[in-house]
Amino acid sequence: MNIHEYQGKEVLKQYGVAVPNGKVAYTVEEAVAAAESLGSAVTVVKAQIHAGGRGKAGGVKVAKSLDEVRTYASEILGKVLVTHQTGPEGKEVKRLLVEEGCDIRKEYYVGVVVDRATGRVVIMASEEGGTEIEEVAAATPEKIFKAVVDPAIGLQVYQARKLAYDINIPNELVNKAVKFMQALYEAFVDKDCSIAEINPLVVTGDGNVLALDAKLNFDSNALFRHKDILELRDLDEEDEKEIEASKYDLSYIALDGNIGCMVNGAGLAMATMDIIKYYGGDPANFLDVGGGATTEKVTEAFKIILSDSKVEGIFVNIFGGIMQCDIIANGVVEAAKQLGLTRPLVVRLEGTNVELGKQILAESGLNIVAADSMADGAQKIVELVQ
Ligand code: ADP
Ligand code: MG
Repeated sequence: MNIHEYQGKEVLKQYGVAVPNGKVAYTVEEAVAAAESLGSAVTVVKAQIHAGGRGKAGGVKVAKSLDEVRTYASEILGKVLVTHQTGPEGKEVKRLLVEEGCDIRKEYYVGVVVDRATGRVVIMASEEGGTEIEEVAAATPEKIFKAVVDPAIGLQVYQARKLAYDINIPNELVNKAVKFMQALYEAFVDKDCSIAEINPLVVTGDGNVLALDAKLNFDSNALFRHKDILELRDLDEEDEKEIEASKYDLSYIALDGNIGCMVNGAGLAMATMDIIKYYGGDPANFLDVGGGATTEKVTEAFKIILSDSKVEGIFVNIFGGIMQCDIIANGVVEAAKQLGLTRPLVVRLEGTNVELGKQILAESGLNIVAADSMADGAQKIVELVQ
């Protein structure tokens, strides 16, 4: 789960990460009032959306007076920002962060991630802050420094200190940078983050080390133990179909293609997307209905797939291990009847109660194309949507 920058800064502040003073605003009036109460000579008006690259897209503006705050706030609120992270449709701005402008001496990058290769938390730092770290990684990987953290003892002072020197933090500010990194690491672990990215971290003219941007992402599987974080969820920022899916405990991820997939098991779901691609098609989603799905759950899953207007055909690929094929068949028939299915549907069933499942589908009167294997099904659906 992602949260907004202003929320991320509040969370980080609790752990001692230094951030500029700022306030959230939902209206132009609130933005002006926020700037007035901050009372700084320069105020920054920042679009709050769950995507980076706002600066380049015109979503971050420096205001030198309350009038300018008013102008920028009215410009940015309601605007659809298109950045490299929003996709071409962009995201509408509904909240602003009004923040003290700071006197930036230099911008750096610090990020904490879970590194799958080492199976550990890795803290990365670079002197090339403010720009996209992916570009730095591609063009000048030698400018990114890493420390792998041993979970038993946490981020060690020497590691943070070495990183600070590696990225050329001014000598007199190294101690502050070390504290910053330790606080960031503590927040990351304590709140079960999967990403905590500060781009840029800045050193200021008056000798501070601050997080000027904050991108926190949380492990959804750990949210049950972080009620405070769950409260920060902004449904406006999430895909409607994914929200609906989460209500029914379905693992659903919306994608750009036109073939809806209903599969059980994450591995089979991944393999199904691969095989669709292999035969020249494009999956519209990842969907794992899980092992012990009920007819109701399958019906809801099917409805979610069909609610996607991009979907031109559906491929149901089920291996009945724990899941029983007749339950899937009933769910498919139920949903198809409720929604009046007109789009092509290919079903491949195998495993527990497969004969019963096939019988339910055959007797349903629906126009269903049966597939003998995964490859057969994938080829059939790709042909049907073309
Ligand atoms: P994004 O990464 O989405 O573009 P940032 O929060 O990183 O948004 O802001 C973009 C740039 O705007 C920063 O790199 C920094 O140069 C400038 N900026 C952001 N916040 C402030 C601030 N409070 N004071 C001064 N400059 C800022
Ligand atoms: Mg940034």
